[in-house]
Amino acid sequence: MVKTIKGIPASPGIAIGKVLLYNESPTAIPRFHLSREDVASEVERLKRAVERAAGDIQLIKESLDKDAKDQHALLEAHTLMLYDPCFNELAHERIGKELKNVEWVLQETVNSLVEQLEATQDSYLRERSSDILDSSRRIIDHLLNRKRISLGKLDQEVILVAHNLLATEMLQLDRRKIQAVIMDVGGKTSHTAILARSFGLPAVVGLKDVTGQVATGDPVVVDGIEGLVTLDPDGETLENYRNKRALFEKKESQLYNITDLPAETTDGKLIRLKANIEFPAETDQVLNINAEGVGLFRSEFLFMDQRESADEESQYRSYRQVLEAMGDRPVTIRTLDVGGDKLISEIESQHEANPLLGWRAIRFCLEKTNLFRTQLRALLRASRHGRLQIMFPMISGIEEFEEALSLVEEVKAELKGEEIPFDANIPIGLMIEVPSAAMTSDILAERADFLSIGTNDLIQYSIAIDRGNEKVAHMYQPLHPGLIRMIHLVVQNAHRHGIPVSLCGEMGGEPLYTPILLGLGLDEISMSAYSLPEIKKIIRSVSIAESEELLGSILEMRSYKEINDYTRLWMEKRFGNSGQ
Ligand code: PEP
Ligand code: MG
Repeated sequence: MVKTIKGIPASPGIAIGKVLLYNESPTAIPRFHLSREDVASEVERLKRAVERAAGDIQLIKESLDKDAKDQHALLEAHTLMLYDPCFNELAHERIGKELKNVEWVLQETVNSLVEQLEATQDSYLRERSSDILDSSRRIIDHLLNRKRISLGKLDQEVILVAHNLLATEMLQLDRRKIQAVIMDVGGKTSHTAILARSFGLPAVVGLKDVTGQVATGDPVVVDGIEGLVTLDPDGETLENYRNKRALFEKKESQLYNITDLPAETTDGKLIRLKANIEFPAETDQVLNINAEGVGLFRSEFLFMDQRESADEESQYRSYRQVLEAMGDRPVTIRTLDVGGDKLISEIESQHEANPLLGWRAIRFCLEKTNLFRTQLRALLRASRHGRLQIMFPMISGIEEFEEALSLVEEVKAELKGEEIPFDANIPIGLMIEVPSAAMTSDILAERADFLSIGTNDLIQYSIAIDRGNEKVAHMYQPLHPGLIRMIHLVVQNAHRHGIPVSLCGEMGGEPLYTPILLGLGLDEISMSAYSLPEIKKIIRSVSIAESEELLGSILEMRSYKEINDYTRLWMEKRFGNSGQ
């Protein structure tokens, strides 16, 4: 029977296809009590599953390059763990004593081991808990005859349904075969959603329990525009969605007609529209839509892509590739912004209680100075090949900014000493993503060449909601008066100090907010490439005068609801329904 579920629209587009269910829900472990005579066969099942899991690891080892020493060592450790007598004896004993099925015992044994390890002060022991989890998952997969699906190589087109895909898993997707992604959890500005938009994949997240409602092979329609997923669609639904898909594609192609026109308001103000990218290859798309540059290159994705190493040479090549492709258009490269939902191995092992408030972004780089210096060297060396701007993420106050600036100076001196050429006048700026930075933006603007407002995090930290958590997604309100006031303050402070200010969060790609951003006085907006033509169309049809008037009314309002309603109505009057 046709059934529609509402989630959060994360990347626009319509996809009609068949489900590929990736991993079962984490709670789907069977639990039952055994009779005494079943104990021996249950212990035997465990032994067999351990042997099969070890066989899997052996196969992976054989497929690896011999020189990949770290990976071999990791797999070796996983094999040892599978046969660990302490763990196996404990499980055997509990099956016999507690008369619980093996999956149940295994899960409880592993959970208590992991808890003990995570409570220790010894970071080496704490790191072992993720290995234990990985090994036990492998055993459980065998016990349940669950096959791990490889998402990197698929033989037919599918709609991927998952409880939660990590950003690193998104990187491995076979993009030729995956038509759309839908997930139980997640928010609109989680990095999984941002990557889906970069890849042009329709996506709906925050569907709560979609994984419990579908099976591989089920027909499904994904509407990434409205955030709807229709299960078991009938003929009429399919027909309606085919029409909606054709309209969406037509609208997209019409927007390309204004590619060569400037982003100029009706009263003559030019706004610089730039694109956000995660990978060097995306510059093709950026040039196709004729963006004025790259306003945010999220360099951390070079570190997360495990197929590539991120040493100085390979980083240099990637930065150079982007700068050369963009020619005389400026490229703002953000230094490593890991942590939160973007993990690399050094951070993965930390198990922080509050990772979003923890050791991430610039805090991480100012401690891991070797890694940071390597990135700065690669950036400075690449600066000769185009118009580079460097930007630091998550700055919370002037101390961090000055510390980062002095590291740049040290790396410059080092390169000079080695007679390696670089551009001596690279503009250096920072992201305003933390409320304390917004409130001290006058102090930061004295030292910076530009500011860029990262609203994804600024909203997260000012309203105090996890941007990836669907339970609080309704509170993610870009029109919260607290946020509008903060952006207003940052723009005024930047202009008072004669420096430009940009906005590079997802808010910049939403047509509903464009006139308000113009009224706020932003010089530049950077967004996913796919949003840019539509935003340009809005800019070309409004004046700064009317946008300032709109902002004036909004600044008088008390709640985000009031501001939302007023702005929607304003947009409807000006553009009809298509303005939203
Ligand atoms: C932001 O926080 O708004 C931003 C652009 O950075 P990211 O989305 O990568 O955190
Ligand atoms: Mg951010």
